[in-house]
Amino acid sequence: MAKSRRAVYPGSFDPLTMGHVDIACRAVRLFDELIVAVYDTPNKALLFNTQERVALAKEALRDVPNIRVDSFRGLTVDYARSVGAQVLVRGLRATSDFELEFQWSLMNRKLSREIEVVCLVSSLRYIFTSSSNIKEVARLGGDVSGLVPPCVAQALAERFGRDDSAPPVPRYLAT
Ligand code: ADP
Repeated sequence: MAKSRRAVYPGSFDPLTMGHVDIACRAVRLFDELIVAVYDTPNKALLFNTQERVALAKEALRDVPNIRVDSFRGLTVDYARSVGAQVLVRGLRATSDFELEFQWSLMNRKLSREIEVVCLVSSLRYIFTSSSNIKEVARLGGDVSGLVPPCVAQALAERFGRDDSAPPVPRYLAT
């Protein structure tokens, strides 16, 4: 019987964008199962906590067969091993991603010989999309529809929703 192939797509997903959805959908065509693995403690400031990032990814990907969403802490290779996955999936947008993904691929190979990293190239539609620029545009009131799943657009609107009738209260005055 053919071996079942499970892959892990790790990332911060803060929040999940259509660029991530595109990579996940491409990846699941290549493997029997894809685990979208939300990294608990990335070394950057987060807008959404782990529970929120997982919930948004689950909602956005719920109709895609053979994808499940999980969260993890610690080394990605250790997580992959713990779920019986041999492959890490990453997405490449432009040359700027390549350098970092290349370094991390080699580092992960050093950490675990069993794991292979597979990089998939983004759709042209999402080549300019990142969680960071989406958050910045949403924070400034710009339209991010079409670039993020509807549940993420809603979560961003709620997070950055402003009540213009009330003047902002300086933080040091708020009790
Ligand atoms: P990380 O903090 O691990 O880089 P991200 O959530 O920012 O996590 O991204 C996870 C992966 O998805 C990375 O490999 C990143 O290059 C890729 N990715 C992010 N946005 C896009 C996009 N628009 N198109 C293709 N790949 C993307």
